[in-house]
Amino acid sequence: MPGPLGPFHNEPLTDFSQPGIRAAMEAALARVRSEFGREYCLWIAGAPQTTGDLLTSVNPSKPSEIVGRHHKAGAELAARAVEDAHAYFAEWGRTPAAHRVELAVRAAALIRERKLEFDAWLVYEAGKTWPEADADVSEAIDFCEYYARQMLRYASPEAPAQTIVQLPGERDEMVYLPLGAGVIIPPWNFPLAIMTGMTMAALVSGNTVVIKPSSETPTIAAKFTEVLRAAGFPPRSFALCVGSGSVVGDTLVEHPKTRFVSFTGSRDVGLRINELAAKPHRGQIWIKRVVAEMGGKDAIIVDREADLDSAVTGVVQSAYGYQGQKCSACSRAIVDEAVYDAFLEKLKAKVAELTVGSSDDPSSYMGPVISAGARKTILDYIEIGKREGRLIAGGGAAPGDGFFIQPTVIADVESGARIFQEEIFGPVLAVTRARDFDHALALANATEYGLTGAVYSKNPEKIRKAREDFFAGNLYLNRKCTGAMVGAHPFGGFNMSGTDSKAGGPDYLLQFLQAKSIAEKL
Ligand code: NAP
Repeated sequence: MPGPLGPFHNEPLTDFSQPGIRAAMEAALARVRSEFGREYCLWIAGAPQTTGDLLTSVNPSKPSEIVGRHHKAGAELAARAVEDAHAYFAEWGRTPAAHRVELAVRAAALIRERKLEFDAWLVYEAGKTWPEADADVSEAIDFCEYYARQMLRYASPEAPAQTIVQLPGERDEMVYLPLGAGVIIPPWNFPLAIMTGMTMAALVSGNTVVIKPSSETPTIAAKFTEVLRAAGFPPRSFALCVGSGSVVGDTLVEHPKTRFVSFTGSRDVGLRINELAAKPHRGQIWIKRVVAEMGGKDAIIVDREADLDSAVTGVVQSAYGYQGQKCSACSRAIVDEAVYDAFLEKLKAKVAELTVGSSDDPSSYMGPVISAGARKTILDYIEIGKREGRLIAGGGAAPGDGFFIQPTVIADVESGARIFQEEIFGPVLAVTRARDFDHALALANATEYGLTGAVYSKNPEKIRKAREDFFAGNLYLNRKCTGAMVGAHPFGGFNMSGTDSKAGGPDYLLQFLQAKSIAEKL
C-alpha cells in the first residue's frame, strides 16, 4: 500500500501545554477575530456568486458576535450547481488518478500550514475548545492523506482488490470508475473533518461535488473551499452551495443529474434524503447512491469487574467532550448493580470538576452548545429526564452569554425512558442499573441505533462476549467511545445509525466508485 506517498500516519495533535504554541494559538484567535463579520460568496459553476440573501453565522460562546455573512443559494442556483457539476464531470472523471491524488495531498499540506487558523475558526464558529478543534482539523488532514493513498490502491493494476481470475484464452480485469456529480451534506459538529472527508473521498475518486454545508458552520466551509482552490482542484470540480437544508436540500437531492448523495447528520434528515433520492425523475438514468451516516445513542457498559476510576474517566470524556455533541458521545452509562452506587459517587465528583465557559478560553473543559435552538431542545430533554430518573448533577443552563449547559447526569433511568432511547445531542448522561453483564449487553442493544459503544471489564470472557454481542459499528474495549482515528477505527454505525460506510477505512472509496469488468479474447 505505501506506494510513492509513503505510509499513512495520523496527524499529530497540537500540544497546547507549550507556552510558544499557546501564544501562537492566541495570535491565530486574534487574527480570525479580525475577520469576523466578513461577507462570503457562493461558489457555483466555477465562479463566485452573490444573491444578496444573507445567512449569518454567530459565535455560540457569544451570540452577539457575527462570525460570517454568507450569500445563500435558492433552488435555482442549487439546480445550476448540480447541472454544472454534471457537465464538468465528463472532464474531471478522466483526469489521471495520480493527479487527483497529488491535489488531495496538497490540500492536506495547506490545511496543515493553516492549522491554528482553522482551529480558531472552529473555536469561534462551532464552539469547540482548543483541543477539540485541533482534533477536528487533524482528522481533516488525515482524511486527505488517507484517501489519497486509498485511491492509489484502487487505481493500481496490481492492487489486491483487483485480483481477478484469468480464464484461459482471455485477459480479464476490473477497473474502478467514478460515479458522477454528487451532493455532499455534512453536519456542523465536525464541520471541517466530515466535510473534508466526504468531499475529498468523492473528488479523489474522480467525481465532481456540490457541497451544501450546515447553516451553522458556513464560514468553515468557505475556508475549506479556499483550500480546494489553492490546492489546484479545478474551479468547476466543486461547488459551495450555502443555503438552508429545507430550501435547497430537496432540489439538490432530487435533481436528475445528481448521481449520489453523501450525507452525515440526523436520523430524520437522513431518512428523508434516502426516501427522496429513491424516486427517479425525468431525465434520470441511474439509481442514486445514498450514503447516510446518522445519529447514535451510544452506551458504555461498566462491569462489576471494571477498573472503576478509568471507567469514570472514559464515561466523562465520552459524555461531555464537545458538550456531548458527537454522534459517538456516550449518552448512556449502563452499570452493573454491584458497583452502581460507587460508580455514581465517583462520577458525580468528576463531573463537579468540569468547567463550562467560552470556547476561546483554554481553561474551559466544555464550551457552548451550537445554537439557541439546540440549547432549548437539550433543556427540554433535561426536564423530561428529571421526571424519568433522579438528577445527580447539572440540570440546567450554565451562566454566561453563550449557549451554555451544565454537564448533567440523570440516574436510575429505565430502558423505556425517552432519555434512554432518543438522541439528545448535548451534555446529558443517563445512568441505568444492570443486573449482570448479560443484562447490560441487552440494555446496550435495546435502542434503534448502533453507532459506538464501550465496555469496561477486566474479565476476558466478558470482553469476548461483548466483541460478539454488542451490536455497534464501533466497539471500544476498556477505553472511551469517542475519538475514532482515521485508518485505525473506520467509522460508521448499524441500524438507524446509518449505512455503515466506514469513513476513514479501506473500503470507503468504494462508495464513490463503480467497477467495470473487462474481458478480452486473446
Ligand atoms: P442535521 O440537522 O440532520 O443536518 C445535517 C445536514 O443536513 C446539514 O447540512 C443540514 O443543513 C442538512 N439538511 C437539513 N435538512 C435537509 C434537507 N431537507 N435536505 C437536505 N439536507 C438537509 O444534523 P446536524 O444537526 O447538522 O448534525 C447532528 C447530527 O449528525 C446528529 O444526529 C449526529 O449524531 C449526526 N452525526 C452523525 C455522524 C456519523 O458519522 N454517524 C457524524 C456526525 C454527526 P442545514 O444546516 O441548512 O439545516
